[in-house]
Amino acid sequence: MSARVYAVVNQKGGVGKTTTAVNLAAALARVPRRVLLLDLDPQGNATMGCGVDKRALERSIYPVLLGICRAHEALVATEFGFDLIPANRELAAAEVELVGLEGRENRLVRALRPLAGEHDLVLIDCPPSLSMLTLNALCAADGVIIPMQCEYYALEGLSDLVNTVRTVQANFNPRLQALGLLRVMFDARITLSQQVSEQLAEHFGDKVFGALIPRNVRLAEAPSHGMPGLVFDPASRGAKAYAAFAEEFLARIERGGLAAGSVGRK
Ligand code: ADP
Ligand code: MG
Repeated sequence: MSARVYAVVNQKGGVGKTTTAVNLAAALARVPRRVLLLDLDPQGNATMGCGVDKRALERSIYPVLLGICRAHEALVATEFGFDLIPANRELAAAEVELVGLEGRENRLVRALRPLAGEHDLVLIDCPPSLSMLTLNALCAADGVIIPMQCEYYALEGLSDLVNTVRTVQANFNPRLQALGLLRVMFDARITLSQQVSEQLAEHFGDKVFGALIPRNVRLAEAPSHGMPGLVFDPASRGAKAYAAFAEEFLARIERGGLAAGSVGRK
């Protein structure tokens, strides 16, 4: 059976996409599941966060997307029990180069095909834009995970994202579902966080994951040690929250998730 593919998407930067992708990969690897983490951001933060030096890559996702090298050749086995296809700044050129290619939105789908059967789950860490790279991720994905900070501007931009998911579902990839919204960097002491969190639950109902990722300094420190927070300090509140989220994620995908068409309604 081929892998289920989930993209971690939010066109804003610094909202916890990479932290979510890396820690979810680490948690699922422990279950165990055979996981591939795909870094689709030219910033290469997921790559570095897995202890792989983005400046010293022999192969990355960039030539794979362009069809110059095979996905297998770019695959790295991390120390944390999951595979990684790394990225670095080279990938920024792909935004422009892909536009001129035939089947440009399906380059990633095609690139991943030879890996079929080797993993149970593929997680894609997307760049902070609704660009050609993100479009490729959405065309390859079964579902979308949207990490969100519960702050005043959190809801701004969310409708663009939801519309993009719907458009991709309608035009390119009928399998695509909005799996859920994940509240991250949550600070229960801040009234605004509580209010925005309630608003989200009101608006999106059970599309909001029950797991709540707290603001936790150990999660922020882990990448500088080249480790997922879950491995760096398993006893930390952040690590425990991501472990709980991974359980909820598995339960949700096993019962089939929720249709993207129903996003925005209860
Ligand atoms: P994105 O990939 O959306 O740009 P990141 O996952 O890189 O976001 O997170 C942005 C910054 O916030 C990083 O420095 C990261 O270490 C930090 N961070 C992410 N999640 C948390 C958290 N729950 N608690 C504290 N810091 C966090
Ligand atoms: Mg990131």
